[in-house]
Amino acid sequence: MKILVVGGAGYIGSHCVRQLQQAGHAPVVLDNLSFGHRKAVAPEVPFYQADLGDQPEVEKILRNEKIEGVMHFAAFAYVGESVTNPLKYYFNNVAATLHLLQAMLNTGVSKFVFSSTCATYGVPAKLPITEDLPQQPINPYGQTKLDVENVLKNLATAHGFSSAAFRYFNASGAAEDGTIGEDHTPETHLIPLVIDAALGKRENIAIFGDDYDTPDGTCLRDYIHVDDLARAHIAVFEKLADPGTTLFYNLGTGTPTSVKEVIQAVEKVSGKKVPTVIKERRAGDPPALYANAEKAQKELSWKIKFPDIHGIIKTAWKWHSNHPEGYQDR
Ligand code: UDP
Repeated sequence: MKILVVGGAGYIGSHCVRQLQQAGHAPVVLDNLSFGHRKAVAPEVPFYQADLGDQPEVEKILRNEKIEGVMHFAAFAYVGESVTNPLKYYFNNVAATLHLLQAMLNTGVSKFVFSSTCATYGVPAKLPITEDLPQQPINPYGQTKLDVENVLKNLATAHGFSSAAFRYFNASGAAEDGTIGEDHTPETHLIPLVIDAALGKRENIAIFGDDYDTPDGTCLRDYIHVDDLARAHIAVFEKLADPGTTLFYNLGTGTPTSVKEVIQAVEKVSGKKVPTVIKERRAGDPPALYANAEKAQKELSWKIKFPDIHGIIKTAWKWHSNHPEGYQDR
């Protein structure tokens, strides 16, 4: 299939482009390179540097490239910034996405896969999180993603538009060959920061709170390999054949891992000691977020290849230790 990957030069998008190529599909990338990296996309992949909110340009690409479906990864995703600058998040994550969807309606492209987030659940009513739990986001980032999920339901009813929204847990790891990986500026995610500490690029890693009501006092999260995420996006396309389909899936492994366990796993994989300091809890961090990951595995021809945190961290370590400065394109 010919798939437009919006945000295809970003962390998850670029891994998805790779997986699409490996599965014999034909990805086309749209990215404005505000966060993405040109080097993360192979030169043979058609690449358009444009904004997803540039509706005329997007319509032109959809028509000229004869696109059959769209995967949308381009979003701002810093929770703290969404609280201090909500309009930035509503303009990009909602308004620009509406233009992308309008461009799809105008050109008759009606299959869409959307990156949603476990942040749409807010503080979950129970654990592990199943897809039917109430969605009550506690920050604008989660709200923008939920807004788009709701728009997708409306489009299914009104126009027979077919979509799947994946509620990601913690995307992590890198391509197994170590050639593409995570490169955020600023980096706020736990695994790359712990690896930086192991590489001596930072003095230590701050543990944001060790007095949570969890087995070792640190927060529990569900880390899922970025290639496992990517493969789910490809698997879901065959479920979008019927007009008016709307699907929602958690994408996690279902295994909770604590901050301290992540640090220990990095020490084991790297063979290096990681100095730690205990800091205050980070505002807005729920103590535990992990998926009931059964629905996607039952309904999609998709299996988790990296069920264990050590396997995930091995791939991240390979990328970061070979590219300590990331793509070096900034
Ligand atoms: N965390 C930490 N120190 C850091 C960065 C993150 O202790 O320098 C913790 C954070 O409080 C959370 C977990 O690691 O419990 C995962 O955070 P991350 O930002 O990677 O992802 P999030 O779960 O917030 O999407």
